[in-house]
Amino acid sequence: LEPTPIWAFNPAGAASVPILLYHHISDEAPGTRYYVTPAEFKKEMEDLQRWGYTTIPISLLVDALKSGASLPPRPIVITFDDGHQSVYDNAFPIMKKLGMVGVVYIVANRLQSKDFMDVAELKEMIDSGWEVGAHSMTHADLTLNHGNLRSEILDSRLTLESALGVHVPTFAYPFGAVDSTVAQKTADYGFKAAVGLGRSWEHTLGTLYYLSRIEVYGGLETQAFAALLPWHEPLIP
Ligand SMILES: [Zn+2]
Repeated sequence: LEPTPIWAFNPAGAASVPILLYHHISDEAPGTRYYVTPAEFKKEMEDLQRWGYTTIPISLLVDALKSGASLPPRPIVITFDDGHQSVYDNAFPIMKKLGMVGVVYIVANRLQSKDFMDVAELKEMIDSGWEVGAHSMTHADLTLNHGNLRSEILDSRLTLESALGVHVPTFAYPFGAVDSTVAQKTADYGFKAAVGLGRSWEHTLGTLYYLSRIEVYGGLETQAFAALLPWHEPLIP
């Protein structure tokens, strides 16, 4: 029997929580940047469990940063960008079996497109404890046209919230591209935080609108995957 991990209060202001980023979980293009095979993904999730990680929704990390919150030992956030169908088909069942939850960043105008997850699938994931974030309306680079920020940022949130019937608290910048105007509008349009790209797992109030996410490429050996993470040996109770 696994011992129950003891959650502890994390005071507001800072938290150490790796946020991983995946795209496709599929056998389509093994060993490439955006495709992690289901077998690799299963091994990575099992390794995380063996190393004592507990998945949390990103809103809990945001709460911890803003007001303090109880976190499990070795918390981790697992995110998936773009809403590919393979996340529902392959990642969701693997994680569900292991008792893990994730966060999907959805491009709002792709909700009814072929090869992307639909409303019914996203609702099923939400019912299992997953969280949905917005990834803009059309996946445009927001730094290139500030005239579109209202529709790309605000409308993506409103579209997803009305389709799914849940609050969509966080945003992922397409291509990780941001400038001070884009970040400010993301806050003004009602997002509590936003995620980008990076290599750090240390987050503070100052990074709320560019939380660093560690991208996991396809084809990583266990050692290379472990090197992305702060803890990679079993937790000794
Ligand atoms: Zn994207």
